[in-house]
Amino acid sequence: MKSHAKVVVIGGGVVGCSVLFHLARHGWTDVVLLERDELTSGSTWHAAGGMHTINGDPNVAKLQKYTISLYKEIEELSGQATGVHLTGGVLLAATEARLDWLRGVVSKGRYLGIDLEVISAKEAAELMPLLDPKQFVGAVRNKEDGHLDPSGVTHAYAKAARKLGAEVERFTKVEDIVRRPDGLWRVITNKGEVVAEHVVNAGGLWAREVGRMVGLELPVLAMEHMYLITEDMPEVADWNKKTGTEIIHAVDFDGELYLRQERGGMLMGTYEKANKPWSEFQTPWDFGHELLEPDIDRIAPSLEVGFRHFPAFQKTGIKQIINGPFTFAPDGNPLVGPVRGLPGFWVACGVMAGFSQGGGVGLALSNWMIEGDPGADIWAMDVARYGDWATMAYTNAKVRENYSRRFSIRFPNEELPAGRPLKTTPVYDTLSARGAQWGVAYGLEVPLWYAPEGVKDEFSWRRSSDFDHVAREVAAVRDGVGLSEISSFAKYKVTGEGAAAWLDRVLACKLPKPGRMTLAPMLKEDGKLIGDFTLANIGGGEWFIAGSGIAEQYHMRWFEAHLPRDGSVQIETLGQKLTGLAIAGPKAREVLAKVTRADVSNTAFPFMAVARMDIGMAPCLVGRVSYTGDLGYEIWVAPEYQRAAYQALTAAGEEFDIGLLGSRALNALRLEKNYGSWAREYRPIYGPVEAGLDRFVAYGKEADFIGKEAALAERKNGGKLRLRAFIVDATDADVIGDEAIWHDGIVRGWVTSGGYAHNSKKSVAMGYVPKEIADRPDGFEIEILGKRHAARVQTAPLFDANFERMRA
Ligand SMILES: Cc1cc2nc3c(=O)[nH]c(=O)nc-3n(C[C@H](O)[C@H](O)[C@H](O)COP(=O)(O)OP(=O)(O)OC[C@H]3O[C@@H](n4cnc5c(N)ncnc54)[C@H](O)[C@@H]3O)c2cc1C
Repeated sequence: MKSHAKVVVIGGGVVGCSVLFHLARHGWTDVVLLERDELTSGSTWHAAGGMHTINGDPNVAKLQKYTISLYKEIEELSGQATGVHLTGGVLLAATEARLDWLRGVVSKGRYLGIDLEVISAKEAAELMPLLDPKQFVGAVRNKEDGHLDPSGVTHAYAKAARKLGAEVERFTKVEDIVRRPDGLWRVITNKGEVVAEHVVNAGGLWAREVGRMVGLELPVLAMEHMYLITEDMPEVADWNKKTGTEIIHAVDFDGELYLRQERGGMLMGTYEKANKPWSEFQTPWDFGHELLEPDIDRIAPSLEVGFRHFPAFQKTGIKQIINGPFTFAPDGNPLVGPVRGLPGFWVACGVMAGFSQGGGVGLALSNWMIEGDPGADIWAMDVARYGDWATMAYTNAKVRENYSRRFSIRFPNEELPAGRPLKTTPVYDTLSARGAQWGVAYGLEVPLWYAPEGVKDEFSWRRSSDFDHVAREVAAVRDGVGLSEISSFAKYKVTGEGAAAWLDRVLACKLPKPGRMTLAPMLKEDGKLIGDFTLANIGGGEWFIAGSGIAEQYHMRWFEAHLPRDGSVQIETLGQKLTGLAIAGPKAREVLAKVTRADVSNTAFPFMAVARMDIGMAPCLVGRVSYTGDLGYEIWVAPEYQRAAYQALTAAGEEFDIGLLGSRALNALRLEKNYGSWAREYRPIYGPVEAGLDRFVAYGKEADFIGKEAALAERKNGGKLRLRAFIVDATDADVIGDEAIWHDGIVRGWVTSGGYAHNSKKSVAMGYVPKEIADRPDGFEIEILGKRHAARVQTAPLFDANFERMRA
């Protein structure tokens, strides 16, 4: 075994081998994979080998498509058969709600280049002869589904990597990992030590234990998973003979089942409700090529449905039940990327669909390690989407919920209950008493809307029970004044003698003067967005940044990686050490004036001003800015004072009928102003010109900000896309996000978010289209639940286009 390597990859499952292959293919060949046993000795060897392109997140779906397209290449490179059978498949719907969901999937597929087609249940039965069409209302056909040989694929990756110069050391167990003072990593094994610049944790079932070696508690948990294999079935033999083809894959969402042909019989797997975690606290090191005891009672309810939906199963015997463990992150997506605070330590774990996702994970991670950027939008898999709040108990609750709902519909207005409430702010009970319906962001409870007694969300793809109530919250703001809880923003404090110079380099905006704020895009080297913030210059060398709450860890990782080494800048994430309230609407200033002695007139405290002031008895930091696009104020306050500030504001607002509003009303309000938000409109694949944030980029400033050169190039060539707001002729359902945008009968773009703008009484969608067509007055259509609706580009905001209200 070599004593030094550029990269050590820990784990020889499908994921580790894919990472190794991609690093070598990308030109890093001084890389070694350490496997404690034979390759495939974790979850990989007993996988059912299914692969598919569908994923809830379109960017992950793209990487799944890439994974499937890769198998031919690694087979040719390695000479190792992967056993790929691209049979195609059907995704089955037993209810209308499920069919609506599938229509949304088809819409996404159109711009992802995934060939999907809605078909009737009868047509599905013609393709997959074992299903009873009376049990289903429709289906979607996917030509890119299939299955493969898990061991063949893993060895093909490893052999191809070796051919490119990478090394694989089997029976080499990593026992400890220590960071040296010079930043290199000592990877200590039962066979000696390797010193490496980079370490990748692809430990699969043991990813948690490998993480603990560097003091990291990863939010992953293994679950037991069962599938059965039947005896040979005459129906299968008949079909094979008649058509000369295998029986295609089927996913029966409502039965929570997946099926495929396995030799002369069938394989049926299920994500059962009564699921069971495996080795909740510590994965045993002596676990390897063994299976877990099957428990047929646990899967009996699913099998009952399966036998009804696929009657041929009733007449056949079960040859074998496989029960094996594999790991999940709380939301079921992988955990990939560099770990904040551990330079050179990377993770590629929590991969629950290694044969659909392993290739994409390897590609993204190797790009990231070599180029400094994953090369794709992998937010949905980024390890930074979790923070310390994702504790072991939280992970346990969420993984179990996610497993039990693997094939369940999640409606756009549906909030999942497990692991909640976790983080709450001091006004939580007060707002609950006022009818707050809660959602969650980065572990924190956030009010979505306020329901009268006895009313709650009815889960639906269409406008629902909250519609009129959200309209009332919106009206409170536009007609008078509304109050919202805004603690879910991420907040950072920046100080130190080098603070201004550093901010000038990491942020693309012009720095504001003391007492002023500005919108602050943050760019990567390639000139694409990596953040959008509000930056406030508090004065006295102190800076305050507010940004997307869900991206706190993601942004801290970036900030810390770019801090000067001389200690001249300190950045602190304030988390819930600072909570927030906001007031907005034409009466907002009158409310504020009643509770503070500060002069908040437009002259003394104009738009984008910031100052410390007391609100009632509570010391606060107040910025004159509002995501509602109205006259408004964001108020930052230490948690111990939040209730006092809330009480002062609500009491002062009584005479103006101050109303409470939640994030759904806020969405309706910001849509009228064409305001985007992080992880929806603003993501690391768009440039500032494309996203319409170029007006906040100080191209001419002296500071050589990160991404400047690329941003200037984008400004010159105009980029490829444009973010636009559309008015959609929708009737009873609005866009959710990820729908296809058509132009002149061709899919040309995708929706990033939208909804109903209650004040203007318009259905609004925001999304990206090629710049060449972005300003065409007509020809656009947006697909909602399988139906195309005429749409028009809305160039000027629907509300306060001249900023008269906001700046008055
Ligand atoms: C019953 C079942 C059916 C499944 N069906 C499918 C399916 O149809 N399609 C699909 O895509 N996925 C399926 N999966 C999931 C799939 O198996 C996993 O997504 C995949 O195997 C994860 O691979 P991995 O490389 O991340 O982890 P693992 O396969 O667990 O590999 C981790 C490797 O790391 C090694 N290792 C750990 N710690 C150390 C250490 N300290 N030193 C050295 N080596 C170490 C282990 O020995 C192991 O070989 C199924 C899983 C199960 C259990």
